[in-house]
Amino acid sequence: MGLANGRPYLAIPGPSVVPDRVLAAMHKASPNIYEGELVEMTHRIIDDLKAVAVTKAHVGIYIANGHGVWEASIANLFSRGEKALLLSTGRFGIGWSEAAIRMGVAVDVIDFGKSAPVDVSRVEDALKADTQHAIKAVLMTHTDTASSVRNNILQIRQMLDTLGHPALLAVDAIASLGCDELRMDAWGVDILLAASQKGLMTPPGLGFVWFSENALERCKTSDLRTPYWDWTPRAAPKSFYEFFAGTAPTHHLFGLAEALTMLLREEGLEEVWARHAALARTVWAAFDAWSAGNPEIGLNISDPAFRSHSVTAARFGTPYGTELRRWCEREGAVTLGIGLGMADPTDNAYHGFLRVAHMGHVNAHMTLGALAVMDAGLKALGVPHGSGALEAAAKVVSQA
Ligand SMILES: *Cc1c(COP(=O)(O)O)cnc(C)c1O
Repeated sequence: MGLANGRPYLAIPGPSVVPDRVLAAMHKASPNIYEGELVEMTHRIIDDLKAVAVTKAHVGIYIANGHGVWEASIANLFSRGEKALLLSTGRFGIGWSEAAIRMGVAVDVIDFGKSAPVDVSRVEDALKADTQHAIKAVLMTHTDTASSVRNNILQIRQMLDTLGHPALLAVDAIASLGCDELRMDAWGVDILLAASQKGLMTPPGLGFVWFSENALERCKTSDLRTPYWDWTPRAAPKSFYEFFAGTAPTHHLFGLAEALTMLLREEGLEEVWARHAALARTVWAAFDAWSAGNPEIGLNISDPAFRSHSVTAARFGTPYGTELRRWCEREGAVTLGIGLGMADPTDNAYHGFLRVAHMGHVNAHMTLGALAVMDAGLKALGVPHGSGALEAAAKVVSQA
């Protein structure tokens, strides 16, 4: 007998679950791309994108995934040979730096390892040593989706201001926007990146770059800009097609508009943040109980203050990360995320890790359900584990 028939649940950190309402909004005839509904809706989407990042900054929409907006940010920010300081706390910062290096930017990387947040004092030392202000921008991830660390952005802004260093602050919020509290203007972020397929609950295919007036000014001379990536016309288009440097991503826009309505006008941003925080605590409670009976099981980030509210990276001991993932998909129709960047896929240690996503269109029954399937998997596979994980998780939900 199999118990996997029924609605499957993709609990990986992107693409996330797309609400039926968003899918339904996309299911319509192609619109007029010169005037009317699509044009009006795009202006509303721009306003909503500013609201979801709590900013008055400009925003450009790209037909791209996260890797695309990494390049967009670099193309606009830098001239060939200029310097960036990249803060790495997992895997995704390194990906951004690899793109920058291939585009001709000189990148200094400070690596904080795979299980720790940015240590502000080390960044401060690097910036103090940069007496000539060669570093044009500090690049960092808010949530690194591989390690599930969540960095404190405001601390870095305050340190830059205290030092009087003019570097721009660029933040990859692809895994956190629409999930974790994020306030672009209050945190002094100059460039912010996101993509459609995570907290914004829309299929992969749209990337977003918000940029401050300061960033727009400073980057007017960047010689890495090419026509498609140039953000200037996207933020101030003279004709509708300039929003997208070509044909609009019509159906993605219908979906995105619906998702933004759900987030901003129905649930409300503060409620969205609170829901993700509560579901994250629910997952952590289950892990605390499991690990009490087996030290091989544990969360990757020990300090809750630095844990993501949208994804949780964990270890189960080799080979149980991979085995549990396979069991949960095969027997419970729950697909969990692979452990990313923790070990090389050819290394046996790779099979000890996995990630649980609680990102976007998720609620109590989805998260409790995923945890219950995992609990059943641990039993079926004979993995030693502490008891009471589901009790503990339910208790967090009951008190949320
Ligand atoms: C998912 C993700 C990316 C990459 O996005 P793609 O759409 O897969 O290119 C980059 N940064 C972070 C923090 C992410 O979570």
